[in-house]
Amino acid sequence: MNIYEKFGLRLIINASGKMTNLGASAVNANVAQALSDASMDYVDISELMIMAGKVIAKVTGAEDGCPTTGAAAGIAISVASVIAGDNLGLLERLPYSDGLKNEIILQKGHAIHFGAGITQMIALGGGKAIEAGQANRVEKDHITSAITVNTAALLYVKSHHAVQKGMQSLETMLEIAKEHGLPLIMDAAAEEDLKGYVKKGVDLVIYSGGKAIGGPTSGLICGRASLVKACRAQFKGIARPMKVGKEAIMGLLTALQQYDEKVDSVQEQLKRMQWLVDQFSDTPGIKGSIIQDEAGREIYRGQLSINKGLLGIDANELIMKLESGHPAIFTRNYFANSGLIHFDPRPLLPGQEEIIVKRIKEIILERGNRE
Ligand SMILES: *Cc1c(COP(=O)(O)O)cnc(C)c1O
Repeated sequence: MNIYEKFGLRLIINASGKMTNLGASAVNANVAQALSDASMDYVDISELMIMAGKVIAKVTGAEDGCPTTGAAAGIAISVASVIAGDNLGLLERLPYSDGLKNEIILQKGHAIHFGAGITQMIALGGGKAIEAGQANRVEKDHITSAITVNTAALLYVKSHHAVQKGMQSLETMLEIAKEHGLPLIMDAAAEEDLKGYVKKGVDLVIYSGGKAIGGPTSGLICGRASLVKACRAQFKGIARPMKVGKEAIMGLLTALQQYDEKVDSVQEQLKRMQWLVDQFSDTPGIKGSIIQDEAGREIYRGQLSINKGLLGIDANELIMKLESGHPAIFTRNYFANSGLIHFDPRPLLPGQEEIIVKRIKEIILERGNRE
């Protein structure tokens, strides 16, 4: 029985992904130990923040780093830092920023909702989101013509939530930022590449600690030293209600240090997912295969293609039954309307693929018995 069950909650099997609404990541034993050890002792928080910045810098190749409670906080804090810097008088005024350069330009197809709206996170940091272009088409001119004397920064979002077509590339955004002497902030919340964007010259890159990094509920900002210093300064202002705990910081750093030797290796992912889909090779109405992540990341997911005519139940009904059972099984459902159910191997604990297969077979049998 896990701790959530002891408090009366359902056991969850997560084959969906690093989903915030399911608790993002289940950390490994090293990270859990760090969380526990850190919580049972004291530390000088300002020294901790500086040391954490150095570890983040080392792992990301950036000049400096700043831990946060998550990527959403990272966005608000980054925006505040480009508007107020580390000037106490200014940062204490935020989120009210009248009279300051406070406009943050992003492409309209990047004005996403990730569980909350990104433009609201910008506003929390005192920024005014300026959405350039149209939802599915943004030209370079849309961005350059949005730049005014009040522009504080450009913001680029790399995410499967963003519109993938018709947008200007990160390289173009960098070029525009350079030409106009503006900082470029990047939301790379769920990205796996911790070094590439800093290397390309992005001024502040934001990650979620609980997604690809596999850390506890946390996040980080990395980038240019002066701006990161300004990010840390925001904890005397708008970032105070986003205070990162010492436990979260130590858990995050431990996850970062073991990031390169990650356990969810591609071979292991493939093996588990192949096994899962193979269990349905004799089931009429289910066709299994392995597919790579739609955004091209090194993630290989199991795919079951459901033929309602043959199986007597469609993908959405099957998903509903999986989610309402005990344990509750959550799959990746972006293409459920096309009859496809996806299984993400990364968040699955050992052996849970067997429980999933068993439950799907039970659901199919229940169907057959009733009809
Ligand atoms: C998840 C996500 C966020 C928010 O991250 P948290 O760490 O949960 O605050 C922001 N932006 C994008 C693109 C995300 O995917």
